[in-house]
Amino acid sequence: MASTPAHPDGAVHPGAPTDAPRWDYSPAPETVPVTIPERTQLLIGGKFVDPASRKRFATVNPATEAVLSQVAEAGEADVAAAVAAARKALKPWSKLRAGERAKYLYRIARRIQERARELAVLETMDGGKPIKESRDVDVPLAAQHFFYHAGWCDKLRYAVPGGGDPQPVGVCGQIIPWNFPLLMAAWKLAPALACGNTVVLKPAETTSLTAMRLAEILQECDLPPGVVNVVTGAGATGRAIVEHKGIDKLAFTGSTEVGKLIARACAARGTRLTLELGGKSPNIIFADAAIDQAIEGIVQSIWFNQGHVCCAGSRLFVEESVLPEVLAKLDIRMRSLRVGDPLDKNTDVGAINSRQQLATIAKYIEEGGREGCTVCQPGAQALPTKGFWCRPTYMTGVQPSHVVAREEIFGPVLAVMSFRTPEEAIQRANNTPYGLAAGIWTEKGSKVFDVARRLQAGVVWCNTYNQFDATSPFGGFKESGFGREGGRHGLAAYLAD
Ligand code: NAD
Repeated sequence: MASTPAHPDGAVHPGAPTDAPRWDYSPAPETVPVTIPERTQLLIGGKFVDPASRKRFATVNPATEAVLSQVAEAGEADVAAAVAAARKALKPWSKLRAGERAKYLYRIARRIQERARELAVLETMDGGKPIKESRDVDVPLAAQHFFYHAGWCDKLRYAVPGGGDPQPVGVCGQIIPWNFPLLMAAWKLAPALACGNTVVLKPAETTSLTAMRLAEILQECDLPPGVVNVVTGAGATGRAIVEHKGIDKLAFTGSTEVGKLIARACAARGTRLTLELGGKSPNIIFADAAIDQAIEGIVQSIWFNQGHVCCAGSRLFVEESVLPEVLAKLDIRMRSLRVGDPLDKNTDVGAINSRQQLATIAKYIEEGGREGCTVCQPGAQALPTKGFWCRPTYMTGVQPSHVVAREEIFGPVLAVMSFRTPEEAIQRANNTPYGLAAGIWTEKGSKVFDVARRLQAGVVWCNTYNQFDATSPFGGFKESGFGREGGRHGLAAYLAD
């Protein structure tokens, strides 16, 4: 294991003008308690192994472009071995006394807490998100998912209508994206394990490091061999999982495009499936809202995690009478957003996850300009010269027909529109093929209930945005997918009918 400094090129905001604010690092780069292996392996049948092909690919720190590690690329043979190991582990794991299964989940949760600092730094280095988000959101929530589901292990008969003796579905394939790598792994693994299933998990190709660190934690907790297998790789590895006949249930979080391919493959074979896909969520501000709070809500809804959030409030609808006030205050607030080194505890907006995602976002910003929108990027701060960066952006003059109002950008770009009546707000908010989330800002309780009921969205936040909790079901309507994860509802997907 080579010791890797937290900030491999050692630069403090390269390219920043000399009068730019100099921010304190926390923790200081040289003291970051993280070691990163030069090459990663796969976890199959309780052992860390090399991929059969010996192939690997580089994973980079998107804030510096420095190579962090060479990640194992699992092929069909590795996936087959992982599925076989999961099959072998299924009977003993599912027959284990529920209280014993719970002990493993509690142990994993506690170990995540104990290694929280290291996990947070690694998540930030591999994915680009600000350390304050990895530290305060991703890692604590990952632990919470294991704690919460540990509590369900011996209460599963209360989780499904009719009670009885709930049985697991079997071997689960779980494919996750790059925006919340550790959290998505916990989010998927915890309910599957609580219900007595075994798993083959595949992280996204740009963010495999925290999933492999979690694999280490599972080993430290003596999870029986084969209960969880972690195979890294890109789309081809994912396809090998989807196409493997030994998979009883698939859970996928990612793009709608890939979700549709997976739905087709699962339908052909009758494999059970849950899909968590994209979104273009509306965030609606009524004139009677507490505007200053709503401004914070906008920041949280679209610039949290650089906008790499499936439920991001990427379409802002503001009641016409307060639009000038909202835009003026938003401009001021955006000037104070700090974009830069994700390891700096004061950073608000980190690096875009990959070069490819940055190109996609840039293409949408250009397209918005071409369609006649006004592109606003109030923050004047210089961006680092290395790495992948995008200033927090909003667009005005947006029509519902514009590409930037219809398609998911998955970046820090907000489309601002206005409305005159609640009816118009609801109609425009629902005018999308997606239905993942929505936000409402108003001081009037009756309006909250009326509007929330009529929005086609799996989650509706009122006077807040992007709040997550393991007790609460999450999932979408329409092209945002089907099935729920989290809460009692999330267990249904992992229990046989
Ligand atoms: P993606 O669909 O390209 O990749 C997601 C995962 O699927 C990755 O692990 C990838 O390697 C794998 N994959 C790619 N092609 C595959 C194939 N043909 N068969 C099987 N697996 C394949 O998406 P992404 O770019 O990694 O993530 C961004 C997308 O995910 C956004 O659209 C976002 O909205 C969505 N997302 C949704 C949620 C949710 O909960 N609804 C959460 C996070 C992200």
